[in-house]
Amino acid sequence: MTKERTLVVVKPDGVQRSLIGEITGRLERVGLKLVGIKMIVPTPEFIETHYTIDPEWRRITGEKTIKSYKEKGQIPPSEDPLEITGVILKNLMTFMTSGPVVAMVWEGVHAVKIVRKLVGSTEPLSSDVGTIRGDYVLDSYQLSDKDGRAIRNLAHASGTVDEATKEIDLWFEKDELIDYRLVQDAILYDVNMDGILE
Ligand code: GDP
Ligand code: MG
Repeated sequence: MTKERTLVVVKPDGVQRSLIGEITGRLERVGLKLVGIKMIVPTPEFIETHYTIDPEWRRITGEKTIKSYKEKGQIPPSEDPLEITGVILKNLMTFMTSGPVVAMVWEGVHAVKIVRKLVGSTEPLSSDVGTIRGDYVLDSYQLSDKDGRAIRNLAHASGTVDEATKEIDLWFEKDELIDYRLVQDAILYDVNMDGILE
């Protein structure tokens, strides 16, 4: 099966919480291969481009947010999905440029889904125990909305293979990604495991 590549960004809260190692370690130990890594302080324009790389993101996220307010029996701040995402995006631009982030590209079979599983769902309040967002941070939409800020959920991970391709292209130059062999690949991907005994 073809290997996928996916983008992971340790957000400013992850760096400040000294969780770069924990997050990287969890992705490493599952068997994924790190093929690119760098620390940068993004600009607001770059963050806007990142989050709107899918032209539907504004609409989908706005609609999702309105729905989740209503499911909780609350009144959404607006009925206009684009107005809602305008606020979310502005908060993300402030948050994501507040300090350094660590951008990484991870490679492996099913890399996109595996990383999403390990990172956990968007809101730490409901992220599963055992996931990065479930284990290492407490935050909720209720609190972040009240404080008028982005939710602090430690890491970004590409949602689909298509999103991953576009995001990697945005964050990394071709020569910043390295093709190399990892000895563990022989065990993870070898069909017969016949290279062990001498
Ligand atoms: P992710 O892929 O799990 O990070 O989630 P999305 O791609 O759906 O959303 C990207 C970012 O938008 C999240 O990390 C949040 O900061 C923000 N966001 C998404 N959905 C909501 C929401 O319902 N309410 C609020 N306040 N922010 C949201
Ligand atoms: Mg996303």
